[in-house]
Amino acid sequence: MTISQDRALSRINVMQPWLGVEEAEAVAEVIASGWVAQGPRVAQFEEAFASAQQTGQAVAVSNCTTALHLALKVAGIGPHDDVVVPSFSFIATANAASYVGARPVFADVEADTGNVSARTLAAALTPATRAVIVVDQGGMPADLEPVRELCDPLGITVIEDSACGAGSTYRGRPVGAGADVTAWSFHPRKILTTGEGGMLTTRNEAWAARARRLREHAMSVSANDRHASVLAPAEEYLEIGFNYRMTDMQAAVGLVQLNRLHAAVTRRREIVAGYHAALGGVGGLRLAQDPAYGASNFQSFWLEVLPDFPLGREQLLERLARDGISARRGIMAAHRQPAYFGRDTGRADLSVTERLTENTLILPVYHQLTPGEQSRVIRSIRVAGGERSRG
Ligand SMILES: *Cc1c(COP(=O)(O)O)cnc(C)c1O
Repeated sequence: MTISQDRALSRINVMQPWLGVEEAEAVAEVIASGWVAQGPRVAQFEEAFASAQQTGQAVAVSNCTTALHLALKVAGIGPHDDVVVPSFSFIATANAASYVGARPVFADVEADTGNVSARTLAAALTPATRAVIVVDQGGMPADLEPVRELCDPLGITVIEDSACGAGSTYRGRPVGAGADVTAWSFHPRKILTTGEGGMLTTRNEAWAARARRLREHAMSVSANDRHASVLAPAEEYLEIGFNYRMTDMQAAVGLVQLNRLHAAVTRRREIVAGYHAALGGVGGLRLAQDPAYGASNFQSFWLEVLPDFPLGREQLLERLARDGISARRGIMAAHRQPAYFGRDTGRADLSVTERLTENTLILPVYHQLTPGEQSRVIRSIRVAGGERSRG
């Protein structure tokens, strides 16, 4: 717990992980067992995660960026291929395409969800497009069925970047289940954390088997199997692989976190309902909301500052900061980063991306946020919006 001398001055973070003694005990147990690297806990976590996400196979890896890299590898994407991705995403989405030597081509997003759609992807497709990466941005489910209707007849692989999506649903099912392959993140900024960590899920057994090999140097015999036998069988290295393993300590935390997921989503949705009730009527603000076809876990809850709000986005962030509230600028636009300057990343119009990246901000939502703290956030925004301060 932080020591706050003065409630009115205590800082409100934009996000905090929800961790307890159960996670600490689970790690202590792994350490006592003497097996800390990838082993039985990783296998258990994979099974539990695949079952929770209603998908076929889960392969635990070191983070979501490496999961995206392996997703493109197992889908056979490489040099001379184009991968259509949103620019409106954390930069790892686009970078993953660069890792396999493919060209990231940027597509715009829909203003209501911040996600690519069949419409925005269609506007960005090139003759060389062999994969698209659809992001469930901030946990907001993407509309996957129309994307499949667009991509399947063209033989384009649909990859879902569900880094933020654990606990979100699409047409009544967990997100990620409808893509060819899905990547997940367990970074502390996400809703379910293992410190660092990630997962690849797919129904394609051959792809899952190859991802399992690639994450440990493409060894023909897993480290787990070698250690389990007294006389270790000779291994072969079948192709050039990577070390993208998760540890058993991380997986032990993940198993506990997975049990918390439902409660975590419920609490976040309650907090967001509170923001909607209190800020829905404030002119000049547009609040993120569930699409008709699904429910967000609200890993990020953003609002757009419209031209008729008295303050601009930067001024509103400053006002919140002065009140001790750590809100954050909304999602970045990869095409505006130096890493992508001067590169040919396609010709799609990215005007919605630019509007959202300039005018959105993310409000504090985390499990431990108290009603008093949320009231402070609401009051600060309402006063910024012109309501008279009660002092
Ligand atoms: C966080 C995030 C990533 C990267 O996840 P890591 O586990 O940190 O590698 C990738 N894509 C999106 C959309 C993200 O939000």
